[in-house]
Amino acid sequence: MIVIMKKNANKSQIDNFSSWLKAMGFDIHLSIGTNHTILGIVGDTSSLDIEVIRALEIVEDVKRIQDPFKNASRKFHGEDTVITLPCGVKIGGGHFQVIAGPCSVESEKQIISVAKAVKAAGATLLRGGAFKPRTSPYSFQGLQELGIKLLMEAKKETGLPVVSEIMDASHIPMFEYIDIIQVGARNMQNFELLKQLGQLRKPILLKRGLANTLQELLMSAEYILAGGNREVILCERGIRTFETYTRNTLDLSAIPILHGLSHLPVIVDPSHSTGYARLVRPMALAATAAGADGLIIEVHNDPANALCDGPQSLTPEAFSELMKKVNAIRPFADR
Ligand code: PEP
Ligand code: MN
Repeated sequence: MIVIMKKNANKSQIDNFSSWLKAMGFDIHLSIGTNHTILGIVGDTSSLDIEVIRALEIVEDVKRIQDPFKNASRKFHGEDTVITLPCGVKIGGGHFQVIAGPCSVESEKQIISVAKAVKAAGATLLRGGAFKPRTSPYSFQGLQELGIKLLMEAKKETGLPVVSEIMDASHIPMFEYIDIIQVGARNMQNFELLKQLGQLRKPILLKRGLANTLQELLMSAEYILAGGNREVILCERGIRTFETYTRNTLDLSAIPILHGLSHLPVIVDPSHSTGYARLVRPMALAATAAGADGLIIEVHNDPANALCDGPQSLTPEAFSELMKKVNAIRPFADR
C-alpha cells in the first residue's frame, strides 16, 4: 500500500504514523520528495482498512498495490481453479458446464420431467430451488425440505448432480447431498452464512448481488475461501440499473474482468439477468463467446404456469435449441 502524505505533514506526525503501522507488524519504506513524502507499507495489508488511512488529516491519498481479496486473487494463484464434483464433472480451466432446471422445485413429476429433458438436451447439472428468496412474503416460498428430497429423486433418476440455493446457515445439514450450494444475489453479503459455508468442503456457487461491484463479489468469495473451502464458482446474474426493458442488466464484461482478477470459475445466468425467455438465448451465446466457464439457465415444462420466474423460463424445446447453438460457439470462445 502506498500512502502520499500531505505537504504540510510534519516529521513528528509522519514518525507517529510510521510507528503506529510498525506496531501492527508492517515495514515502512519512506521516500522524501521535494513536495511530498511517500510511505510504502510493506506486508500483508489485506487487514488494513484503506478508508481509515485515507481519513487521516495528514494523508493526501492512498493506493492499494495488493488486491484486498488475497485467496481469490490470480496474483496469488496463477492457475485456473478447476472444481471436480464427486461424479467427475469438472468446471473451470476450460471445462464448461451447463446447469439447467426450474427456478423452483414444484412437484416430483415436474422436477423429474425437467431433469430428463435438460439432460437429453445436454445439460450436465440440474438446478432447482427448494428455498426461494421471494420479494413478497405472500409468494410461493419453495417446497423447502421436501424440495431437497425431490431433487435427490431427480438426481437418482437422471444421474445429474444438483445445484440448489441455501438461505440460512441452519439449513446446511439438509444440503449434505446437494452437489453445489448456491448463494443467491440477495445473500451475497450475508457474511455469517458465507463464513459457515467456508467451513464446508463442497463447491459454492456465489451469485453477484443486485447492486454489488465485482470487487465486492470477490470479497464475498474471500469469506468462503478464507475458511478453507477452496471451491467457489462466481456467477454474473445481472445488476440493477435504470433500464426497464430487462429485469436486470447483464454485465458481460464481468467475465473477462473476473478471469483477469481471479482464478475462480465464472459462470453466467442469462435468465435472471434478462427476465424474459426471448432474451435468454442471445445472452447465453454472448456469455459463451465471452469466455464464461458455464451457464445456469431456468427451464420449465410449463412456463406459463410456473410458480416462480415463468416469464424467463425456457421450454425444454427452446433449451435444446439453445444448447445446439452454445455447442457450436464453444470452439470460438475467447478464453
Ligand atoms: C435463482 O437462481 O432462482 C435466484 C433466486 O437467483 P438470484 O439470486 O440470482 O436472483
Ligand atoms: Mn429464479
